[in-house]
Amino acid sequence: MSVWKRDEWKCRYCGADLSKWPDWLNLTIDHVIPKNSKNRAGSKPKGDIESTENKVTACRSCNTMRNQTAYKIPSAASFEEQIKIVFEEKKEQILQRRNDFMEFYRAHVAKQPP
Ligand SMILES: [Zn+2]
Repeated sequence: MSVWKRDEWKCRYCGADLSKWPDWLNLTIDHVIPKNSKNRAGSKPKGDIESTENKVTACRSCNTMRNQTAYKIPSAASFEEQIKIVFEEKKEQILQRRNDFMEFYRAHVAKQPP
């Protein structure tokens, strides 16, 4: 709840406002540095994966679209910097995938573009 409140019930990736019903049902929490990153990434995160600073509000769509591959976590960076770097990388990937889906939607589903 505190993460959602801090982020004002908005998806930190796409900016969707999820404060209204039934959009509120699509609120999720994303671990910026993934829980399994210790096993997959080159460097270990320097802080607590479960801490509030490593969590962001994400809409269900963005949380599903995030890349499942390992993120490169620079070992020299502080935990705050590591989170920031991974967040920016994820955001770029998610917005690219959203765009790819929109193009597919426009080409194959929509009679009129959104
Ligand atoms: Zn989103």
